[in-house]
Amino acid sequence: SKQNGRNRFSFYFEELNTDNERLIALDTEIRKAIEHRDFELYYQPKVDSKKNKIIGVEALVRWKNEKLGFVSPGEFIPYAEETGLIIPISEIILEKACEELAVLRMAGYSNLTISINISSIHFQQQNFLESIQRILEKYNTSAQNFEIEVTERTVMNSEEETIRKLVRLKQLGFKLSIDDFGTGYSSLSYLVRFPLDYLKIDRSFIHHIVTLDDKQAVVDAIIQMAHRLKMEVIAEGVESIQQINILRDMGCDYIQGYFYSKPIPLDELIEFLQLWEYE
Ligand code: C2E
Ligand code: CA
Ligand code: CA
Ligand code: CA
Repeated sequence: SKQNGRNRFSFYFEELNTDNERLIALDTEIRKAIEHRDFELYYQPKVDSKKNKIIGVEALVRWKNEKLGFVSPGEFIPYAEETGLIIPISEIILEKACEELAVLRMAGYSNLTISINISSIHFQQQNFLESIQRILEKYNTSAQNFEIEVTERTVMNSEEETIRKLVRLKQLGFKLSIDDFGTGYSSLSYLVRFPLDYLKIDRSFIHHIVTLDDKQAVVDAIIQMAHRLKMEVIAEGVESIQQINILRDMGCDYIQGYFYSKPIPLDELIEFLQLWEYE
């Protein structure tokens, strides 16, 4: 009926309006957050599956805002990418990581590497390498303790320039990972052109590894082929011991996921590390 139609419309309209208000608030608050450097890093350990040792941590950004509450990176990173605000945010993240790396070193964990997620928008900036080098110099930090995670999508774009940047990052001393592998369209033979150290198998493959034989076959094939191409493999989103056992049998090098730990703030990470063997 007409009545229903109108209700539906007004309901839709209100929803739209709320979304719009949130978007406006998001824009205002994100700019304030950049000004006040209001972002935090949480860290998730990566475990060597054979030695049962932590080799590094992935830094994941967290933003808690007084108006909007906790805003997940899944919400604000895409918006920041659309607006270009990802570049100042990315620089803040890198600076925080340099500061916190120094804290980890003071606590005795000097071989631990920190992985940083780099957005394709930032990566494709013309002065991307300069911006990274400037931050390392500012904090008197070497690239040796950092790993850079780029997604398949990032390396699929503008090939020559991409290779040049990745080679330069390697020369600077960064370790390089391809993130979310399996979700894009790149093949392993395509990736071999890039100087990559690690391949991270996307959580969507790991999720069904215990119950679905075909997923297991795909993961197995990715691991074996990555090894042939001289890359080490990290499984992400690992939540159970069954998954770990399967992955270990397949020769997966490193495990990351809730089974070991959710991403945690630096002070908790240091407590967590104390419970683990470390070399
Ligand atoms: P990602 O780089 O693939 O990060 C892995 C995501 O999976 C993280 O979500 C992590 O908390 C979550 N995760 C880890 N282990 C498990 C598990 O066992 N089970 C489940 N269900 N989830 C797990 P988060 O922190 O919400 O980040 C989401 C995405 O946002 C990231 O995906 C990345 O694309 C982006 N992101 C996060 N931090 C940053 C950052 O500092 N810079 C940039 N450019 N992007 C970031
Ligand atoms: Ca990542
Ligand atoms: Ca990932
Ligand atoms: Ca992901």
